[in-house]
Amino acid sequence: MTWQEQLKAFVRTTEQLETFIHLTAEERLALENQQTKWGTTPYFASLMERDNPNCPIRRQVVPSLQEQHNQFGRENYLLWKENRETDEVRPDSIARQYRDRVAFTVTQGCGIYCRHCFRKELVIDGDLQLDFNVDEGLAWLAEHAEVRDVLVTGGDPFLLADEQLDYLIRKLRELPHVEMIRFGSRTPIVLPQRIDAGLKKILGGYHRTPLWLNTQCNHPNELTDASARAVLELLSCGVNVGNQAVLLKGINDDVTTFRALHQKLLQQRIRPYYLFYCEAAPGIDHFRTPVERGAELIRDALRGHTTGLAQPLYVVATNIGKIPLMPDYYQLGSDADGHRLRNHRGQTTCLPRIPA
Ligand SMILES: *Cc1c(COP(=O)(O)O)cnc(C)c1O
Ligand code: SF4
Repeated sequence: MTWQEQLKAFVRTTEQLETFIHLTAEERLALENQQTKWGTTPYFASLMERDNPNCPIRRQVVPSLQEQHNQFGRENYLLWKENRETDEVRPDSIARQYRDRVAFTVTQGCGIYCRHCFRKELVIDGDLQLDFNVDEGLAWLAEHAEVRDVLVTGGDPFLLADEQLDYLIRKLRELPHVEMIRFGSRTPIVLPQRIDAGLKKILGGYHRTPLWLNTQCNHPNELTDASARAVLELLSCGVNVGNQAVLLKGINDDVTTFRALHQKLLQQRIRPYYLFYCEAAPGIDHFRTPVERGAELIRDALRGHTTGLAQPLYVVATNIGKIPLMPDYYQLGSDADGHRLRNHRGQTTCLPRIPA
């Protein structure tokens, strides 16, 4: 199937879903009783285990009754997070937390509607009405010469048609101050068919302004021959590919899965970039671990246990930017002689203390 055929056959009804999995009574209830947008490409649906309600892919796709509970989430989360109520006048499409870079939202469509999405108020629930006018965003960018890095996001920007993407990239490359363009897209994982000859023509070739892409892969089962091929195609036309995983309870929060995920990402040429703590959006409490868990996993599953390239930076994205939450277990404290350090086996060593 082409990517357009995948979208035409998009799984959005209970009947379609049942061709892939046997639904539990609870899943059926959640599907029948909730006014929530959900759905997946048939490709990603085909990766679900038919008889396992705890399948890590299924849990990202199928709505749960637990989404109605909210203890830790913040109402109007996105308005708070994206500083949309602050003084600077910006189009809806531009979210800003830093001086030199912005997030530019160009669509609300996605290849799957992730149950843990922190943008769910916008992307899934549709509670937030915003206007994503690309030309308005481009005009704002043209007037902000301090912005050197534009992160094109959504939704999923790779769901735009080739002509729209071509226009967007050409216009961004015409801005002399934009030194790099980044895309956040789950398509290499949930719709790898999207990385086709037409897209490669738009992305490829030598350009002064490089393209980077960060995808989202949360479990090793999401990595297939098709995703590996899509990543190679992206790399072959000069697009660097990274991953932004979300720490999800019961999906990737154990040592074995967590290590396998990061090793397999590298096997498919994807460089782990961020591990995100599940943000404080409403209705996703059931995916949230204690905040320490991510640092423990990096300490117990990755650092020292496997390739240094496999290490993501563990962060939480907040209204004041992304804040690192990395383990500091290595510095055991310091005395007059220096700093004591510990490795992944528990051995210690010493680093001299240099006065300022
Ligand atoms: C995540 C984000 C960025 C990019 O942050 P990096 O740490 O550079 O990847 C930029 N702007 C906004 C508003 C963001 O949320
Ligand atoms: S692809 Fe991204 S924006 Fe879309 S539902 Fe998933 S997490 Fe949200």
